[in-house]
Amino acid sequence: MKTIENRKFLKQNDPAVYAALKGEEQRQQSGIELIPSENYTFPEVLASLGSVFTNKYSEGYPGRRYYGGQTFTDEIENLARDRAKTVFNCEHANVQPLSGSAMNQAVYLGLLEPGDTIMAMDLSHGGHLTHGAPVSHMGKLFNFVRYVTNPLDGSIDYDRVRQDALASKPKMILCGYTSYPRDIEYERFKTIADEVGAVTMTDASHFGGLVAGGAMNNPFDFGFDVVTTTTHKSLRGPRGGMILCSRKLASKIDKSVFPGLQGGPHMNAIAAIAVTLLKAQSEEFRQYAQQVIKNARTLADALIKRQMTLITGGTDNHMLVLDTVSSFGIDGRRAEEALDAVSITTNKQIIPDDPNPPLRPSGIRIGTPAATTRGMREADMEQLADWIVDCLQNPEDEAMQVRMRDDVESFCRKFPVPGI
Ligand SMILES: *Cc1c(COP(=O)(O)O)cnc(C)c1O
Repeated sequence: MKTIENRKFLKQNDPAVYAALKGEEQRQQSGIELIPSENYTFPEVLASLGSVFTNKYSEGYPGRRYYGGQTFTDEIENLARDRAKTVFNCEHANVQPLSGSAMNQAVYLGLLEPGDTIMAMDLSHGGHLTHGAPVSHMGKLFNFVRYVTNPLDGSIDYDRVRQDALASKPKMILCGYTSYPRDIEYERFKTIADEVGAVTMTDASHFGGLVAGGAMNNPFDFGFDVVTTTTHKSLRGPRGGMILCSRKLASKIDKSVFPGLQGGPHMNAIAAIAVTLLKAQSEEFRQYAQQVIKNARTLADALIKRQMTLITGGTDNHMLVLDTVSSFGIDGRRAEEALDAVSITTNKQIIPDDPNPPLRPSGIRIGTPAATTRGMREADMEQLADWIVDCLQNPEDEAMQVRMRDDVESFCRKFPVPGI
């Protein structure tokens, strides 16, 4: 591998792309990344992604490929699959989905028929676009019915889930979320699914790394049929997706990914997934997963102490959903922009039954996986809470923003980003 030389070629031959790459390295280093779905990956992952596996076509599965020259691709994909099974304690793994959206599509299309009913979390209550948003193709192909959270405490309303499931008789019950700060009561979902004869699926895209690190519940311990997860969020790997399932669903899932939905897998990403799943078995990663949650709790407590309104009143995972309208009288877009101005990156977020539109929603979402990867700990979270509140209380104060941005950036210099 000639990583350094390869960079030199890029610099010489495409200065525009090289300059953007350097700019992005600088941006990632100088600010605090609080988007809950982002992370800084391992240097070994960057090496695998930028490797000769990019050159290789390997349609099919290990031992059954449509092209020659598969000695090392088979080795890599078998490693990735075996490690996935070990990490998530399951019978089968498909590591070929090109990303999270394709991974969920492959599950729906492989296990169900168009028009079948899928029960999933309502979007404004925390569900993901791929859980049947009307603008998504899956939302048009399948009949999604939605469950919501309880307005009293913000957690999933399991009694209503049961009532709605009995009424709509879904073929699949899907749990998992993109904006919900609590763990899931898998037993309750499983009992309801058994009552109506539905397949159980968890989309663990956000918290797959926390399950891998033993810091959150594993749906397979409760008899779930399918778990999907992206590999680039809390798991800290390359951009990609995995489908984990029981042996009896293995062949349907594999056929659905290829040839059903995709062509050649991205072997460079699969090599990087293999690397990630070895890392995920280390004691260091277990500690990382625990620390992500400790940091999130500390940040939540510090924000609550300063009168911020958190959806559900706190967090059990890596994520906080903040109601900026009721806390500061500003919408999520203005909050995101004000924090951007001080090099703290978050994202605007709709909150349950949000009266405002998605591009001007009532809240923001923040998460600790990336900051924790850089080595930030509880005391740093207290500092962060102060910056966030001071910034959002005075979103127009440009002089303060300039000062705060300097403070944030010099703080960040103490925490190097892996791989840069
Ligand atoms: C991020 C995410 C996805 C989609 O992943 P992409 O890689 O962006 O396609 C799917 N489901 C959930 C719950 C997610 O958070």
